Amino acid sequence: MHDPDTFQPPDAIPLAGVIGWPVAHSRSPALHSHWLRRYGIAGAYVPLAVLPEHLGQVLHTLPKAGFVGVNVTIPHKEAVLALADIVTDRAALIGAANTLIFRPDGRLHADNTDGYGFMANLRQHAPDWVPEQCPSAVIGAGGAARAVVAALLEAHVPEIRIANRTRLRADQLRAEFGARIVVYEWAQAGNMLDGAATVVNATSMGMTGRPPLRIPLDALGTDALVTDLVYNPLETTFLAEARARGCRTVDGLGMLLHQAAPGFERWFGHRPEVDDDLRRAALA
Ligand code: NAP
Repeated sequence: MHDPDTFQPPDAIPLAGVIGWPVAHSRSPALHSHWLRRYGIAGAYVPLAVLPEHLGQVLHTLPKAGFVGVNVTIPHKEAVLALADIVTDRAALIGAANTLIFRPDGRLHADNTDGYGFMANLRQHAPDWVPEQCPSAVIGAGGAARAVVAALLEAHVPEIRIANRTRLRADQLRAEFGARIVVYEWAQAGNMLDGAATVVNATSMGMTGRPPLRIPLDALGTDALVTDLVYNPLETTFLAEARARGCRTVDGLGMLLHQAAPGFERWFGHRPEVDDDLRRAALA
């Protein structure tokens, strides 16, 4: 007898998707579909617009319809933790998940790959980057900043300086992540760039339709690696100004591409490559 809760036909085509509300803007279907085509894998990846009040019911039902997992985006990234049976340590630390695996035993596994995507992007575009010798400076203290901070801590960065418009959120991050976090006043954000090897805009400032991030860059050293999590536009004003000062810059699109790879591998059984073809597919 098949267990009706876990039964999947042996010839099922694996399905995956991205759950959000709204979700039409997501680039994940474009990049996963590119990989499926490229590797000739029989499978599909679709956008799933799901209201918060339907999230639990949808996650319970999807495995029964042939889904092997999903990505999760705004506004569900925090809520899925309470619905998961297994939460990885990094997802628990970050307080959010972006990758869910529907296990054959029926259990829901939640992970967060944003920090992995952040590091892999910088390592790909700045192979000689050495983050562990000098402080890093992170602007912002939202969900994405938490993933970045967790990844930088794991990479043995000795000190992570944080400034956030709402100071309380930065203080909370320090309380949770520990003494290597040093909080700066928002008005003093420019000061924390002094001696920083890595500088990250983890706010939503600079996105198309929003004002640019403006902090004084006088203390920014020319040997710093500057990156922005915003990828629309690809070169934000913040990155353009850093580049004009002589800094190396890396845009945020690669983080989006790299964070997708572990999920694709788990669901479809092939470790995908992040290359220029994928960038073009994501931008198309
Ligand atoms: P979030 O949790 O809503 O946090 C937003 C952050 O931006 C907070 O630090 C917030 O400060 C700050 N902020 C918003 N408006 C501001 C303003 N007018 N002045 C100063 N600071 C402001 O969002 P998130 O999930 O962390 O995402 C942040 C950005 O990263 C978004 O643009 C998102 O698209 C991008 N992102 C990119 C990737 C990627 O793969 N490249 C992955 C994840 C996220 P307060 O705390 O004061 O509100």
